[in-house]
Amino acid sequence: MSIGNYILLGPPGSGKSTQAELLRKNLGLVHIDIGSELRAAAEEDTPLGREINDTIHLKHSLTSDVIMRAVFENVIKSVPPEKSILLDGAPRRASQIDEVEAVLRSFGRSIDKVIFINLREEQSVERISKRYLCFGCHRPYILGKDVFSQEMPCSVCGGKIGQRKDDTPEGVRTRHQIFHTETLPVIEYFAKNNLLLTVDGNQSAEKIFEDIKEQLDA
Ligand SMILES: [Zn+2]
Repeated sequence: MSIGNYILLGPPGSGKSTQAELLRKNLGLVHIDIGSELRAAAEEDTPLGREINDTIHLKHSLTSDVIMRAVFENVIKSVPPEKSILLDGAPRRASQIDEVEAVLRSFGRSIDKVIFINLREEQSVERISKRYLCFGCHRPYILGKDVFSQEMPCSVCGGKIGQRKDDTPEGVRTRHQIFHTETLPVIEYFAKNNLLLTVDGNQSAEKIFEDIKEQLDA
């Protein structure tokens, strides 16, 4: 595989971060995760950090496209030009497509393929709603695998085991619907431009990765 710029898209539960890690390790891609870059930038006492904090905490709104672009630019400028990129977390809505393309263009890059890990709402719920954690030490648990009831205390610290609100069936449904509403136009845009590669996310991580590699090589 030669140098390229890839975008990774997928609803909650699609195992995006696992695939990003596999792609990074096996194909030498530089993984740019806009979500974690945003959180990291928000920690810094810089004009950008303060702007992100204002948006997140004061305005209670989604991060603006302008901030996404600033964060992306800030990260991509330190990526060596000969390195391939895997962009994760943007564009997450149609208005961000132009921003992402403009930043790539300014670094002499363009989008080569968009990897979409597809998962239906019920499958998202099925995969995520088993995720529990200890509210004390944050050790993760899978219901039915390493914990069988919410009443059981944490085996490490004895703390209470429970579920993040985002991970309850209702929480997952909401997140899946947001993904669907916001990101479907992005997926359709890339499909129209013959850049979309779709893989079935309702498989093991190994099989998903195999499918991605096979389609990238095709
Ligand atoms: Zn614990």
